Amino acid sequence: MKHGKPRITHQREVILEELKSVRTHPSADELYDQVRQRLPRISLATVYRNLEFLTDQGLVQKIEVGGRQKRFDGNPEEHYHIRCLDCGKVDDVDLDRIQSLDKSISRTCGYKVIGHRLEFMGICPECSK
Ligand SMILES: [Zn+2]
Ligand SMILES: [Zn+2]
Repeated sequence: MKHGKPRITHQREVILEELKSVRTHPSADELYDQVRQRLPRISLATVYRNLEFLTDQGLVQKIEVGGRQKRFDGNPEEHYHIRCLDCGKVDDVDLDRIQSLDKSISRTCGYKVIGHRLEFMGICPECSK
């Protein structure tokens, strides 16, 4: 099945480009709608598969916020997120990773802490108006 390979690579590139072009942390479904503008024949399953692959490669990250549908982030660096409780949108928080938190947790529970995920929640500026 060698013939399919170049096309899959191209699809993967488009998916990665589209994900990196937005800051909205789309779900796979939302990204599928976006990618379809450029690749009308792509399937949702293909988008899923490629997102899993890109996540495994550390090129993007999968984020789980509010225990809802998984979302994807074109920024693979560790960073914090804030979710609007009104409209459900997820934004990046422009704040350096709090290193001291890992140390406190380590002291408290005796674990060697490798990293952490923090999710903030609130009401976004648009919804506050
Ligand atoms: Zn909002
Ligand atoms: Zn993010």
